[in-house]
Amino acid sequence: MQYWAFYEAINMNMIEETGDPMGKRRRMKDRYRRASFLTDIEGMKNAIGEMRGMFFPKQPPLNIHARKNIAMPLPDESWFENILTDKIAHHPENAMEYPFYDEPIFDAPLVGFIRGDDPIFHTFKEVIGPHHFTPWEIMKWQAENNGVTAPEPEEISVVSFVMPISRNTRRDNAAAVDWPAERWAQTRLLGEIFSQTMVREIVTELMGRGILAVSPDVTPKFNKKRYPNVGWASPWSHRHIAYAAGLGTFGMQDFLITEKGCAHRLSSFVVNLKLTPNRKRQEDIHAYCLHHQGISCLKCAARCPVNAITAETAHNKETCYQKVADSLKYCNKNYHIFIYGCGLCATDVPCESEIPKPLR
Ligand code: SF4
Ligand code: SF4
Repeated sequence: MQYWAFYEAINMNMIEETGDPMGKRRRMKDRYRRASFLTDIEGMKNAIGEMRGMFFPKQPPLNIHARKNIAMPLPDESWFENILTDKIAHHPENAMEYPFYDEPIFDAPLVGFIRGDDPIFHTFKEVIGPHHFTPWEIMKWQAENNGVTAPEPEEISVVSFVMPISRNTRRDNAAAVDWPAERWAQTRLLGEIFSQTMVREIVTELMGRGILAVSPDVTPKFNKKRYPNVGWASPWSHRHIAYAAGLGTFGMQDFLITEKGCAHRLSSFVVNLKLTPNRKRQEDIHAYCLHHQGISCLKCAARCPVNAITAETAHNKETCYQKVADSLKYCNKNYHIFIYGCGLCATDVPCESEIPKPLR
C-alpha cells in the first residue's frame, strides 16, 4: 500500500487541479502524463486488479432495514434497461481523455437477463471449468458478507450488457495494422474504469434498497489464471454470460458477435430479483460467424499481426495473449497510459458493428 501511496503522491504532483468533476484522470489538462509507466496509477491498479482481483473499493453494505419496506416497487427489466442506457448516455466518465476530450467511449447498450437457475451455468462449469462461478455461488459470498441467508438460485438473476465502441474508435482501429489505435487503448482502460464505476453505482443503489447485488469481477474472488483446458480464463466470463443472455454468439476470434457487432466491452452483475429473459439464445454458439456458417470470410485472421487465428485451430489464446501483453510497452510509450490491448481482429471485419448480412 505504501508503494501505491508513494506513486500516487508523485502523480498528484504532476497533474493540474482544475476541480473537474471527472476525477484525477481528467485533471491532466491538455497534455499527456509524464513517465506513464510510473505515474498512471489508475491504469496500473486497473490492469493488476483485473488480473488479481485487487484494489477495488469495499463492497457496498446491504441496508437490511430497507428489505422490510415492501411498499417500494422492485426494479424490473425496464428499470435496468433505462438506468444502463441513461448512465451510458450521460455519465461524465463515459468520456475519453486527452487528446480526445469529451468524446463518448461507448454508444447505447444492449441489455439481456438470465435466470439464476438457468442450467447453462452448470454447462459453463464443464466447458470453461469448475472455477467458473454460478450466480448463486457469488451471491452466497455477498450474502455471507452481509450476515444474511443466500437467496435460492431461482430468486436470482444476472443482468448482462453490451457497450458498443464508438464509430471514431472503430475507424481508428480499423486503420491500425500492428498495434491498437490510441482511442482503442483509451477505451480498454477508461472504458473499463467507467464500466466498473457505473456497475458499482447500480449495485450500491440496489444494496441501499435492501436488494442483494454483486458484480463478480470487482470482488477479491476474481482472479485470472492459466487453466489446462481453456488457457487464460477468469472465474466470471462476461462473454459467456452475454451469450447465455441471448446477446450474441462467438466468432473465430472468440469475440461475441452481437447485433451491434463484436467491437464492444461487456459487463454483467448478479441481483436478488426475478427478471425475465428478454432475448432468445442461439443454440449454435457460432450462429453469427460467416466462417463457421460455411461462408468464405476469415477477415479476422487476415487482420491478426501474429497469425493467432487460423481456419484449422481457430483462435490461439496463447499467441494472442503474448501479443496483447507486448502492447503494454507500446501503449505506455506512445499513448502515455498503462494498458494493454489489441482488437485488430474486431475492426475492419464484416462482424465489426453488426451481424454479417447473410446471417441476419
Ligand atoms: S471476421 Fe468473419 S470469420 Fe472472423 S469472426 Fe467475423 S464473421 Fe467470423
Ligand atoms: S486480439 Fe490481436 S493478437 Fe489477438 S487474435 Fe485478435 S488481432 Fe490477433
